[in-house]
Amino acid sequence: MGHEFVFIDDENRNHYAHDETENLHFLPDVVIKPKTAQQISEIMILCNDHKIPVTPRGAGTGLSGGALPFHAGVLISFERMNSIIEIDERNLQVTTEPGVITEVLQNAVKEKGLFYPPDPSSKGSCFIGGNIAENSGGPKAVKYGVVKDYVLNLEVVLPTGEIIWTGANVLKNATGYNLTQLLVGSEGTLGLVTKIVLKLIPFPKHDLLMLVPFNNLEKAGEAVSAIFRAGFTPSALELIEIDALKIVSKFVDSTVVPVTDEMAAHLIIEVDGNHIDTLMNEMEAIATLLSDFDCGEIFFADDAQQKAELWKLRRRAAEAVKIDGYTIEEDTVVPRAELPKLIRGVKELGMKHDFKVVCYGHAGDGNLHIRIKKEGNIYSLHNPAVIPILRDLFKLVKSLGGTISGEHGIGLIQKEFMDIVFTPIEIELMRGIKKIFDPNNILNPGKIF
Ligand SMILES: Cc1cc2nc3c(=O)[nH]c(=O)nc-3n(C[C@H](O)[C@H](O)[C@H](O)COP(=O)(O)OP(=O)(O)OC[C@H]3O[C@@H](n4cnc5c(N)ncnc54)[C@H](O)[C@@H]3O)c2cc1C
Repeated sequence: MGHEFVFIDDENRNHYAHDETENLHFLPDVVIKPKTAQQISEIMILCNDHKIPVTPRGAGTGLSGGALPFHAGVLISFERMNSIIEIDERNLQVTTEPGVITEVLQNAVKEKGLFYPPDPSSKGSCFIGGNIAENSGGPKAVKYGVVKDYVLNLEVVLPTGEIIWTGANVLKNATGYNLTQLLVGSEGTLGLVTKIVLKLIPFPKHDLLMLVPFNNLEKAGEAVSAIFRAGFTPSALELIEIDALKIVSKFVDSTVVPVTDEMAAHLIIEVDGNHIDTLMNEMEAIATLLSDFDCGEIFFADDAQQKAELWKLRRRAAEAVKIDGYTIEEDTVVPRAELPKLIRGVKELGMKHDFKVVCYGHAGDGNLHIRIKKEGNIYSLHNPAVIPILRDLFKLVKSLGGTISGEHGIGLIQKEFMDIVFTPIEIELMRGIKKIFDPNNILNPGKIF
């Protein structure tokens, strides 16, 4: 590989010392940008021999600190492994390197009439390899599932340097343990993913989008499960609370949606499919059903521009509220019908612990992002005062049958809450798996446990 792609200067080390997780900064000793699995294998053999920590890094958009070199050492950036290797139109599959930006991959397969649905709001910058490591979701997950539902096979460099394939390029596989799914969502702690085979589906021909205002936040939550109970499966069902909508409308300078204080929350509802008449009937039926939930006047996006504007409001909400001071983002998920109880509970916790809170997220999945604002630097790693707040929140989530991360992962910042959702035996099993893959604990140490 030569020295050309090995960096030890301060500028490069600083660039890779943070991700999108608030207020965290850990310097790597060296940054390496390999081009092949073989090069990564050689790096891993060396690091394993000398017990040097290695942190894999995608685009650094992670929200749980997974790509941060907590114990310094080597940071491996996948940015040069950015080729789409093959789009197999006969089998509806794509084989790609991990450093391809998610949206670039989606656009490339769309040109062939194919669809790769998982679409994190960060899709314009995050890498497909990072998505695999986090088992990412996004608005489309409610109908189409998350990353794990599309991964067929992975090429992986193990912490000890061997290069393996986890499965086969097939739609069904009952052969031994499912190493593919074990690697998905393993947050770069079990192996470095160097090639990815994904399932594709035909691209739906049409979609319709509407924005529904509600006078009451909990009612909006109740409406979500009513839509599914009535037999509809929207291709997206997102919730955004009024405070978040106000902040993001100002942030992106948008006037597409009339934002008024009378409204407490909005649902963004999309349906897609191949027959426009069916979709229009579905939208009308959903709109009729929602009138029972104290909703206001529904806004139907007329054209591609209005749809893009609406999606921009939703996709940029996280960025906007963070800049507004809502620095802590929690990624709670509960069974869909428990959403109203979660919303109510979160507001009560805000009063108990004296913090401001806004909620938005993938309501159709029961996946609510909770953003907290409180004076001073209250990030959990830096201020133990916030830990009781988060423990209360996660206990509430657990009591509702949910868990502490729907899509952002545990990484560095949620690990101290794992005991709320797992027993010691369950955690020991996971530690045991880690030890088999990584006997010297050199790959992304300090994450998850
Ligand atoms: C504005 C914004 C919106 C977001 N919206 C969503 C959303 O809607 N849904 C969602 O799920 N997430 C969302 N995220 C979170 C984030 O974008 C995802 O977690 C994404 O998958 C991270 O990809 P990345 O390439 O940036 O990975 P990084 O942040 O660089 O790394 C994430 C983890 O993956 C590991 N990793 C990276 N590449 C590899 C590899 N090749 N092999 C092994 N391990 C690897 C790293 O070690 C780390 O643990 C959002 C983030 C932001 C900033």
